Amino acid sequence: MPFRSGFVCILGRPNAGKSTLLNALVGEKLAIISPKAQTTRNRIQGIVNVPKRNGKGGAQIVLIDTPGVHKPDSSLGRKMMVEVREALEGCDLVLLLMDVTHKIDPRDQFAIDLLRRMGARAFLVLNKIDLIKEKSRLLPLIEEYRKLYKFDEVIPISATKRKGLDDLLNSVVDVLPAGPAYFPDDQLTDQPARFMAAESIREQVLLNTSEEIPYATTVVVEQFEEGKRLTKIAATIYCEREGQKGILVGKGGQMLKKIGMAARLQVEKMLGTKVFLELYVKAEPGWRDSRQFVDELDWRRQLEQRMLRQVPREGKGQPSPESGDHGAE
Ligand code: GDP
Ligand code: MG
Repeated sequence: MPFRSGFVCILGRPNAGKSTLLNALVGEKLAIISPKAQTTRNRIQGIVNVPKRNGKGGAQIVLIDTPGVHKPDSSLGRKMMVEVREALEGCDLVLLLMDVTHKIDPRDQFAIDLLRRMGARAFLVLNKIDLIKEKSRLLPLIEEYRKLYKFDEVIPISATKRKGLDDLLNSVVDVLPAGPAYFPDDQLTDQPARFMAAESIREQVLLNTSEEIPYATTVVVEQFEEGKRLTKIAATIYCEREGQKGILVGKGGQMLKKIGMAARLQVEKMLGTKVFLELYVKAEPGWRDSRQFVDELDWRRQLEQRMLRQVPREGKGQPSPESGDHGAE
């Protein structure tokens, strides 16, 4: 059996138990969870490594939590829903999490409308079954849901009691495409922090530069040594041209200093240690087209490219970093 990997989005209204499920899945399968920086960009929440088991190959599931689905009534709410939609677009599978102690209400309907629009492959996951004595009472609910969307599977679970989680994982793995792990499993404890550090730096690049620069840059963390009190990080911002490099460095190094300082503060908050951050800028023409560069060094870019590849956007030509919708990031 081939190794499988993919992105799985957990969708559901607030209080359905999304976070509980995420933690249960990540905890049970020995994996790590990413640091809890709640910035809009950090949609990757947990990585679940499923070991090889009888007759089945191993798998890596990248679980993506989404803000609770609701009908947006503010611009922030709208932005959050854009986040949800974007997360959905890149997913191999959506788990629609439903609290079985509640009837379907407009918020659930809203989640289903989203699914419909995306045409995403989805499982209906019925959570909190520990609160239902007579399981037959689930049947009408399942019927009702099945009328609303073509779910591939319906899986009852209890996230708190860890019931049904193995079934859920097995079913998830079965529908994932064959593919390599996105995160090296020997580095599970620091890879996400490392990745988040790169993210923080890239975020500062995005905030402080304009035009083509944000999309021409990527951040590679070359060194990451986490200590109890101090974390040493060396990172390089890659851009494509000398001119961009000049802007990123800035007059007398001002821009790089600004980016580095803001990123350092953010990473310190995330890690809870002091951070020593060495930041470099390099012009690497054509890095975006270098598959090897992308594959080996930059998770985020890798994820983005993958997501863009999966969702050819209408009327925007070849997916490329410039043509993607990065506005909400
Ligand atoms: P989220 O808003 O969807 O992330 O929901 P949370 O994970 O924060 O859970 C909301 C509440 O539901 C918490 O009080 C959880 O303890 C509870 N909860 C989650 N899963 C279960 C379950 O399987 N059974 C029961 N009885 N409670 C659950
Ligand atoms: Mg939650």
